[in-house]
Amino acid sequence: MKPVHIMPILRKYSIFDKMIEGVQIIDKDWKYIYVNDVVAIHGKYNKDELLGYTMMEKYPGIEHTDMFKHIQKCMQEDTPHQMINEFDFPDGSKGYFELRMQPVDEGVLVLSFDVTKQKRAEQMLLDANSILDEKVRLRTVELTAKNNELEQFAYIASHDLQEPLRTVSNYLQIIEEDYTDKLDADVVGYLGAISRATNRMSLLIRVLLDFSRLGRDKQLVRVDCAQLIADLLSDMKSTIEANEAIITTSDMPVLNGYETELRQLFQNLISNAIKFQNKGVKPCIHIEAKPLAGKWWFCISDNGIGIDKIHNGRIFQIFQRLHKIDSYQGSGIGLANCKKIVELHRGEITVESEVGKGSKFIFTIANL
Ligand code: ADP
Repeated sequence: MKPVHIMPILRKYSIFDKMIEGVQIIDKDWKYIYVNDVVAIHGKYNKDELLGYTMMEKYPGIEHTDMFKHIQKCMQEDTPHQMINEFDFPDGSKGYFELRMQPVDEGVLVLSFDVTKQKRAEQMLLDANSILDEKVRLRTVELTAKNNELEQFAYIASHDLQEPLRTVSNYLQIIEEDYTDKLDADVVGYLGAISRATNRMSLLIRVLLDFSRLGRDKQLVRVDCAQLIADLLSDMKSTIEANEAIITTSDMPVLNGYETELRQLFQNLISNAIKFQNKGVKPCIHIEAKPLAGKWWFCISDNGIGIDKIHNGRIFQIFQRLHKIDSYQGSGIGLANCKKIVELHRGEITVESEVGKGSKFIFTIANL
């Protein structure tokens, strides 16, 4: 039976009876004096089981919830409030409701939308995301460990290879110094070839060692790229002059980065731009930079021999060269170093090029 004194209130608010949202009015003594059908469904009670009873009678412990505090505030301060409420039902289940509280003459009117399904979907998405995050984290740890192992292997292998190579070189030197006049010209020729091959192997081992060590002692500092490039060009003065190269730069940023490694990056790219020049054409090199999508974008363009598109991916791999050693000197590790340095700066490096028409080496650097 509905308490008699709330009958006029039920009539007054009957307009809410068929609303798709839940509507309830709680009086200043915390009694339900109006509830519509939806509130009864949300609240898991019949209307008659709620009307005339206090919230605390129907939902023991509710007085300790945030929702209760907000209804109280709404009543006392006459201010509306909106919130998402996690509701613990007496049967142990949980529901989520978006609540809008509005002061009315009798107390507080609460409009409720059941958002349990959305909340559960949101939670499932969050759970799936955190599972994914954890998988990515584990994979990254695994990959980093594998990378470290590989670098360690490259370091030890190249370090240990140096010793026997030194022995071969020493004996070759002794033969050259003491026995050349006692040997056939052919044999001297062969020894020369062995000597050149050991020198090359020694160079490759050295650059492999440097590659494996790259970034090991990196230190994050503020780098003035304009100053860094100016110093670099001053150190490269004799090569630049010997090749009559013209090098121009646009405005350069000051960024957080690994200075020694960045210097090596610019040096490798500028040296290549000078080295791979078109015969009879003076190298013209332009270095530019601009902010792009939260990173710094750099481009080093030249008017050199260019690269066939089919080689674009491979030139950044270790020891991949497109030319015979007698046409262009080099070890084939420069661009692999560049890629590693750019990746240390959470960036990417690519090349745009056309045979005979020059190349553009484009890379990004995150502001670490
Ligand atoms: P290296 O210069 O020692 O050969 P790199 O790793 O620096 O090794 O370059 C790999 C290859 O990419 C080079 O052998 C060359 O064929 C090509 N390459 C690099 N830079 C340029 C450039 N600016 N123009 C044309 N080809 C280039």
